[in-house]
Amino acid sequence: MSSENTAGAADGSGAGSSVVWDVAVVGAGPAGASAAHAAAVAGRRVLLLEKAELPRYKTCGGGIIGPSRDALPPGFELPLRERVHAVTFSLDGKLSRTRRSRHTLFGLIDRSEFDQGLVEAAQKAGAELRTGATVSRVEQHGPAVPDRRTVAIVLSSGETLLARAVVGADGSASRIGAHVGVKMEQVDLGLEAEIPVPSTVAEDWAGRVLIDWGPLPGSYGWVFPKGDTLTVGVISARGDGAATKRYLEDFTARLGLAGFEPSVSSGHLTRCRADDSPLSRGRVLVCGDAAGLLEPWTREGISFALRSGRLAGEWAVRMAESHDAVDARRQALNYAFAIKAGLGVEMGVGRRMLTVFSRRPGLLHAALTGFRPAWNAFAKITRGSTTLAEIVRSHPMARRSLEALDRPR
Ligand SMILES: Cc1cc2nc3c(=O)[nH]c(=O)nc-3n(C[C@H](O)[C@H](O)[C@H](O)COP(=O)(O)OP(=O)(O)OC[C@H]3O[C@@H](n4cnc5c(N)ncnc54)[C@H](O)[C@@H]3O)c2cc1C
Repeated sequence: MSSENTAGAADGSGAGSSVVWDVAVVGAGPAGASAAHAAAVAGRRVLLLEKAELPRYKTCGGGIIGPSRDALPPGFELPLRERVHAVTFSLDGKLSRTRRSRHTLFGLIDRSEFDQGLVEAAQKAGAELRTGATVSRVEQHGPAVPDRRTVAIVLSSGETLLARAVVGADGSASRIGAHVGVKMEQVDLGLEAEIPVPSTVAEDWAGRVLIDWGPLPGSYGWVFPKGDTLTVGVISARGDGAATKRYLEDFTARLGLAGFEPSVSSGHLTRCRADDSPLSRGRVLVCGDAAGLLEPWTREGISFALRSGRLAGEWAVRMAESHDAVDARRQALNYAFAIKAGLGVEMGVGRRMLTVFSRRPGLLHAALTGFRPAWNAFAKITRGSTTLAEIVRSHPMARRSLEALDRPR
């Protein structure tokens, strides 16, 4: 930590004192916890600010695919509620077919438990957590900022904290993202219900998920079982909330689940960044949903949050050490390069897949249910042994098919 006391008497007591933190992270979801962990293991003093009290609920299917598992902090025990071995695919409720695998395809977690575990891992690495702390804004100039190497973080209580670098991981309605000027090009509405069911119903779903290609362009629905609770959700482009709601109602009724009272019903927007959207401004970096880093087709975001969070934490450490704006800028560019070279490429392919899927959901359904190589590719992607981007890059047939299908019409 910087030893300077720039805003009054430093008492060194941690959160709330006037010390200058090396790295302050805003938001304690998977992106923020990952960033805080990465910066703390590098030996820096890290403050993790979260507006909610933990554990907190998050609207999410809780699907953990291979890349999410592989991006967890070393030694982190995944609190799995379910291991998925089978997927039932349907096309707007019709043409159902179940595909099975001898190996686990992906896992399902409860987000409040998972996120709490990640925060504890960051704390164990040395990060200091402060909950009930809503960040109103950050300032990089003006009277609250003692020098050009410092960022002021203003809480809704009026209190101001100081840090050498800030990581914005405050989710899809990010205030830090607004400060950075993040541009979103795709906004979707996800609606979900947590439905407790009797054991006879739960048994039918054990180890199996359902994915339904929906009636609205680019929409799909899912049933993700977690023991005696089923997470039932749908996602579709924002704009026609009533149609998305109707899809969830029809989907739930069709599955015979309408008679069970949900314990939670909620909605949440997901946002995907534009390709040229900034990932930093001055000494502030953004990651996860706050940066619009999300797979555009599946809207898978946990692996994007974990992976971008870790990179943001690592580059924020270097930024905290920067003595001038030029070097801070260099670190920010390095962070952006790392994101674009990895997650950016995956997002590019995801965008093209969404175009194809929006136009021809039946084709995708037919491929996954009737063409073994497509199912094998799905299984490999969910297990994490390859990515969609890698398949498109290395398989000429996949590349040619995508080129033919996503051509502007
Ligand atoms: C319906 C739905 C289903 C989904 N299902 C899946 C799935 O199955 N698998 C998958 O991989 N992804 C899924 N996603 C996406 C996934 O939930 C997100 O991509 C992921 O949560 C992003 O993590 P994050 O840490 O960036 O943001 P979040 O998890 O949203 O965390 C942000 C944190 O910041 C805090 N915060 C916000 N504002 C402030 C502030 N001003 N000050 C302080 N703290 C603040 C919030 O309280 C929150 O704790 C789904 C999304 C939706 C909407």
